[in-house]
Amino acid sequence: MKALSLLCYRDIRQEVSSISPSVIIIGGGVAGLAAGCYAQMNGFRTEILEMHTAPGGLCTAWKRKGYTFDGCLHWLVGSSPRSSMHRLWEEVGVIQGRTFITYEYYSQVLDDRGNRLILYTDPGRLREQMVSIAPKDERLINRIIHDIKKLSRRDMPVELGVSGFFGMLPIIIMFMKYRMPAQEIALKFKSPVMRELFASAFGWNDMSFAFMLWTMALMAAGDGGYAIGGSGPLSEAMAARYASLGGTIYFRSRVDRILVKNGHAVGVRLADGTERRADYIISAADGHATIFDMLEERYINKKIRDCYSDLDPFPPLVYVSLGIAADYSGEPHSLSFPLARPFAIGPTEVKRISIRIYNFDPTMAPAGKTTVNVMLETDYDYWKQLCDDRERYRAEKERIGKAVIDGIAELYPALPSQVEVIDVATPLTFERYTGNWRGSYEGWLLNKKALSVRIPQQLPGLSNFFMVGQWVSPGGGLPAGVITARNAIRKLCGLEKRNFVTKRY
Ligand SMILES: Cc1cc2nc3c(=O)[nH]c(=O)nc-3n(C[C@H](O)[C@H](O)[C@H](O)COP(=O)(O)OP(=O)(O)OC[C@H]3O[C@@H](n4cnc5c(N)ncnc54)[C@H](O)[C@@H]3O)c2cc1C
Repeated sequence: MKALSLLCYRDIRQEVSSISPSVIIIGGGVAGLAAGCYAQMNGFRTEILEMHTAPGGLCTAWKRKGYTFDGCLHWLVGSSPRSSMHRLWEEVGVIQGRTFITYEYYSQVLDDRGNRLILYTDPGRLREQMVSIAPKDERLINRIIHDIKKLSRRDMPVELGVSGFFGMLPIIIMFMKYRMPAQEIALKFKSPVMRELFASAFGWNDMSFAFMLWTMALMAAGDGGYAIGGSGPLSEAMAARYASLGGTIYFRSRVDRILVKNGHAVGVRLADGTERRADYIISAADGHATIFDMLEERYINKKIRDCYSDLDPFPPLVYVSLGIAADYSGEPHSLSFPLARPFAIGPTEVKRISIRIYNFDPTMAPAGKTTVNVMLETDYDYWKQLCDDRERYRAEKERIGKAVIDGIAELYPALPSQVEVIDVATPLTFERYTGNWRGSYEGWLLNKKALSVRIPQQLPGLSNFFMVGQWVSPGGGLPAGVITARNAIRKLCGLEKRNFVTKRY
């Protein structure tokens, strides 16, 4: 009897192992799509459960009266074939057939006396210009330019683990050197003009200046380009790649719970009450919702709890997009300037705005017209309390749209009469469409605190479960999604004792 049951068990094991292990991926943003692609490449049977009606998550765009309003792409690390990240984008089907432009300058910054700093991506040109504005600061400028050049010779490691760590070491050293915010470095300039321009150009909350230095270095190396067509086609290409590898995305499928049995993740429960089972579960959804809601705070330790109480998420945005019936092709594509008449959004005073003029991408507006966009950081709680009163919420969006147009009119007086479409997204819009915690648009800010933290992709006491995406990689961004997803599938292959393989097509 014992021999018989052993035989049966062996037969069942053989049958089971001939069936590929299954994986449920929660969330069809860039990280979820990448996890799906790599898992399919490695012979897993996968499905993506996405609560929204389209793939891409934050990497998205929407259309209004012929204008395309892009919700994400400014630059893509890995656009250059010389970057290791380029190969990963090929693997997930993003690069093929796409035209990239590299920027001559990252942005232009004005002060209230008309002084202008152009952030040329060529370090030599940037140096020349900075020295012409602040000759007494030549030594400091030379030091910064020298470090941009030095960093531009470094490839971004795409492998996590030990080899990735050693590749990352010189970059980490540079990050530690510039871990303070740009505003702090700005104070070192003798020239008050440069002090203000530098802080306005590179100051991004309390983000480490290293992040901006790194961006400038990437662009100096010809990387960090923009894909014509923007975010929409990029996400669609990834979804198509996933489908071509045999994966299926189920839309309108919000996951409420991750089901756990004896410390193993075994499935999920959807908002409609249905349950789905799989051998492995990967969450590519919001980190806070995954840990505190879907897993009901049961798989957490002090380190992870501290991340969610001590680290700062990117502040949410009011995201104003405008359709302009005029040609702005001669204007800077990115321009930051102080407002003569500041305005407030709840507790936040808006004294300076940065406009992005999509005159470099003809697909974004009908011929002779232009899409313009303004990102304003805002207070989440202000919007949360407003949303209880739909009328006040709607009126506030309208007021801000008008205030932004008036602000831009300080520089472009004809613009108000050219506006055809106004679209205002709030932190609650981001939250509704992507589920991101407090409307954060890129996960954790890469500030001094976050630089010293490594966020694990697995949770204590829970096997057969991984997290991928911006919440497990401070600084967030599109590459983080692909890198963390690739790393999770490599580990999953290890658990299944199979070699990790990748395919380009
Ligand atoms: C204005 C803006 C500009 C940006 N610019 C750049 C840039 O130039 N370069 C760059 O690299 N990055 C940029 N980013 C950041 C980048 O878009 C994000 O970091 C990245 O897209 C995050 O991908 P993700 O897959 O980790 O998360 P998300 O995009 O948030 O994807 C999560 C997905 O999970 C789904 N989901 C959530 N909860 C559930 C649930 N319970 N059940 C089912 N599905 C669920 C969501 O609907 C979403 O599709 C920008 C972002 C914004 C908003």
